[in-house]
Amino acid sequence: MSRTLSLLTPSGRLTLGSYLGALAPMAQRQDDAFYGVADLHAMTTEHDPRQLRALSAEMATLFLAVGLDRATLFRQSQVPAHAELAYLLECVATTGELNRMIQFKEKGRGVESTRVSLFTYPALMAADILLYRPRQVPVGADQKQHVELTRDLALRFNRRYGEVFTVPEVVTSSGGSARVRDLLHPQRKMSKSADSAGTIYLLDPPDVVRKKVARAVTDSDTGPAAVRADPDAKPGVTNLLEILAACGGSADGVTTYGALKREVTDAVVSLLGPVQARYADLAADPAYVTGVLESGAAHCRQVTAPVLASARAALGLA
Ligand code: ATP
Ligand code: MG
Repeated sequence: MSRTLSLLTPSGRLTLGSYLGALAPMAQRQDDAFYGVADLHAMTTEHDPRQLRALSAEMATLFLAVGLDRATLFRQSQVPAHAELAYLLECVATTGELNRMIQFKEKGRGVESTRVSLFTYPALMAADILLYRPRQVPVGADQKQHVELTRDLALRFNRRYGEVFTVPEVVTSSGGSARVRDLLHPQRKMSKSADSAGTIYLLDPPDVVRKKVARAVTDSDTGPAAVRADPDAKPGVTNLLEILAACGGSADGVTTYGALKREVTDAVVSLLGPVQARYADLAADPAYVTGVLESGAAHCRQVTAPVLASARAALGLA
């Protein structure tokens, strides 16, 4: 089993999509796994320091609440090697290649002035990866271009300055896990930074889940076969069916949208219940969570030190 690495950006509160698409698979793979709260990545656009602190703490506590107790958990900013290697990689990257990054173009579109860190984000992401020498990096489609850049930078560095980095393979996630869509806008995915009433957050209490599911868009089909998956013609209903299945529920014998929504609510509430109960226990003991993050960061500093030291030496630094 090879090393696994995954960083989530505290750009918002974790959602049902984060759970089904990221946290649940992470919980399945905890041996030699490094799971981080990418707080530095949350500062590439306008941010509020208090909110960043709160979102980072909530995310770390949720990591533990969903059962990530054997993996190394850390906050990116507590491992200075990330920022330092990012700078070294900026000395290898060109403005031309960073300019071609789609995410930079999209997030910067129509914005009068963007932070320099939004532009250099891919160098920090490359550092996040290369420091841990994973052989493979599983990515969603939106991050594929960044991981390919990571490979390019590693190859270029190795060629010009000596074999320092392990060049990771890009593994595009097969989409085996559900793609959870926004309940109000099923044409787009549920996402933590979207600020939509169609997002289910992991810490939403049962009555909030019920209300959100009750308002989920469906369609005006009242036929006997209305409850069926058809991504093009019935995106809202398909999303509800997929959420139900991913949460371990079943739509067998369900014939109306009202009944489907009750099943979805029950399945989501029973999935989130135990997570919320553990979260409440952990939130009552913040010193414990802080301690886990500190020892995780210490482990990360130890694991990444030789990689950073070789990169520094190869570039001619003391
Ligand atoms: P942001 O709005 O900041 O981009 P996000 O909710 O899109 O946040 P990411 O941090 O981009 O979440 O994604 C982290 C991981 O969670 C990725 O592996 C991604 O595939 C998974 N994930 C996020 N949202 C969903 C979703 N709606 N369905 C399935 N997987 C998801
Ligand atoms: Mg995203």
